Amino acid sequence: MIIIYILCILAACIVLIIAKKTLELQKGRQRAETQRTAMKIEKLSDPGEVQTLTLLPLVEYYADGPQFKTEPGVSYLIDADDTRILLDVGFNKKKEHPSPLLHNMENLGIRVSDLDMIFFSHLHLDHLGGMREQKHKTFSLSHGPVTLPDIPVYAPEPLSPSSWNPGPRPQAITGPIILTPGIASIGVIPRYLFLMGYTLENALAVNVAGKGIVIIIGCGHQTIERIIDRTLALFDEPIYGIIGGLHYPVRGGRIMLGPINIQRIVGSDRPPWNGLQESDVDSAINAIKKVSPKIVALSPHDSSDWAIDQFRKAFGDAYVDVKVGKKIII
Ligand SMILES: [Zn+2]
Ligand SMILES: [Zn+2]
Repeated sequence: MIIIYILCILAACIVLIIAKKTLELQKGRQRAETQRTAMKIEKLSDPGEVQTLTLLPLVEYYADGPQFKTEPGVSYLIDADDTRILLDVGFNKKKEHPSPLLHNMENLGIRVSDLDMIFFSHLHLDHLGGMREQKHKTFSLSHGPVTLPDIPVYAPEPLSPSSWNPGPRPQAITGPIILTPGIASIGVIPRYLFLMGYTLENALAVNVAGKGIVIIIGCGHQTIERIIDRTLALFDEPIYGIIGGLHYPVRGGRIMLGPINIQRIVGSDRPPWNGLQESDVDSAINAIKKVSPKIVALSPHDSSDWAIDQFRKAFGDAYVDVKVGKKIII
């Protein structure tokens, strides 16, 4: 009898929490949409260009060899001419030192002192270096001391360095802006997610001479449709490449709690019973096909193997795997 009583209370609590979250979701979606439509987006004048671009995944769900560590997080090294940018700093789920990021950098002969800039796509745990970092709005390259050079660090919201890397203070940028000739932030696109709440996510756009714009994305909570619209509004050049996370944990995910696909719930702006599904992957593929990119590379950190297969089939030779240690040369 007591067990039934406890179960009823538990069920009532769960229903109340879901009802509260659903109400918050409705209000949050409106707020995000109001903010998004109020943003005045104009063509970037004189964005500049780079001659060469290489992207090397340093943290990802898959790797190009057993010498690398993997996890459901993102950190990409971007070499655009002489500028070396780190996009996000991975998850470091086990709070290690050296972190998977530092371990993989060491394996690839990459030094922290060689970085020219750090660019954060958004303030989620799998991009900031951990759960604690997300909670306190800080970032950590590892859970041990790391000396960062005095370089620009950009984030879409106010962010502080952690005690592990007490170096340069991040600068919050929300609008489209040219960071250095040929490399731009496309500006935040707000979205309200069922569990993660209000999320401001940014992405990088690199203008490669004679080719076009390569968009480099963290988690893709903005939706690829809106990322493409934003990029076309900022540049005259065609979209040449789309690389990174687009968040399609459909028919599987990288963070499972028993049978529950956590990524499908946390990263969607719909309630769990109406979350991401196969038709969303089809819509994304159709939106990307309209701009005919020459390179499409979907991050496995927040998309399932099934979604990756759909992309591989849809884009054929243009599709490129995203794996730690495997360079994507544009
Ligand atoms: Zn992510
Ligand atoms: Zn995210």
